[in-house]
Amino acid sequence: MSDPVALPELRSLSRPELAALVAELGEKPFRARQLFRWLHRNGAAALDEMTDLPRPLRAALAARSSLVTLERASEQRSVDGTIKWTWRTGDGKLVESVYMPEADRKTLCVSSQVGCALGCGFCMTGTMGLARHLTAGEIVDQVHRANRRLVELGEGPAPRPLTNLVFMGMGEPLHNFDQLKAALELLLDEDGPNFSHRHVTVSTSGLVPVMRRLGEETQVKLAVSLNATTDAQRDAIMPINRRWPIRELLAACRTFPMKQGRRITFEYVLLGGVNDTDADAQRLAKLVAGIPAKINLIPYNDNPGLGFRAPAPERVEAFHRILFDRDITAVIRKNRGGDIAAACGQLAAAGRPGDQSRHSPDITGGETLTDPGALGY
Ligand code: SF4
Repeated sequence: MSDPVALPELRSLSRPELAALVAELGEKPFRARQLFRWLHRNGAAALDEMTDLPRPLRAALAARSSLVTLERASEQRSVDGTIKWTWRTGDGKLVESVYMPEADRKTLCVSSQVGCALGCGFCMTGTMGLARHLTAGEIVDQVHRANRRLVELGEGPAPRPLTNLVFMGMGEPLHNFDQLKAALELLLDEDGPNFSHRHVTVSTSGLVPVMRRLGEETQVKLAVSLNATTDAQRDAIMPINRRWPIRELLAACRTFPMKQGRRITFEYVLLGGVNDTDADAQRLAKLVAGIPAKINLIPYNDNPGLGFRAPAPERVEAFHRILFDRDITAVIRKNRGGDIAAACGQLAAAGRPGDQSRHSPDITGGETLTDPGALGY
């Protein structure tokens, strides 16, 4: 009997891999393109939907491959239009994606891992540890399920209401770089969802050795989750800093291969009483000087149990003004989906600290790195 685990996962296959599979099954090359379009343009949930593929081909595909389709486990809608979905994978893991509609764009925040190994102190996902990486198929299927649901909800035309993607959901995308890169190729394919690389942003907490690969092997935009202006501060809230301190991270930003006119986005979560002083703002301006940069200031969302608090609104304003006075482009990000725990740092897909079930049965066994060197780079 064949081992079902060994079957190729259709939604993760690249175009050449899909073409090779279809050729192996004795079909003409145009069938591979049809299949690709069903998988990635229409986001078909099952082979049965692919009505213009011959039945024998569908039967052969069913026998020779598996098809990843995420199941919608829950949907929460915020008063501000934000929607948070929890998806269930084939092996029962839970991951989240967040839809953020604005006047000029419709963005999905996508997850790249079940949990996260990096253990940032202010982040709910970090409390889960890493259960496993997502496959390319599971990464792209968040986008397909979201598009299909948004069409049902009247949020935009089929097949793709979404205009922008940000990889800022659960997980450190660069820790899962091979699957991330495969997913990006599928998402940018003109026979697939056909996203523009200008509308796709990958965020990292500072996995320095992989940043260069992102710049050289993809064309998408980079965001760096900085969140501190001294190593002592950053070591305390982002353990990865002990392996690649601020100086090394910013050196990687300065040499990041970037298209003309692009800027790196620095995410800076303002934690009340921790990193929101005038001195922090002044240091931040100095740190990013000379880097084509934009800074997103993100007032922290209270998460019970993590030990941080939201900054005072006047602190946020003062911080922003100091950057503005130094000609640094900075925007204060609107606090979105706070009422449904969909805002930055709030994704956990399971129990939250304080509710006695911090690690859900779906994610137990997750590991958080105490030694960032163990990432293996
Ligand atoms: S902020 Fe990002 S890198 Fe840090 S623990 Fe959360 S998901 Fe992981």
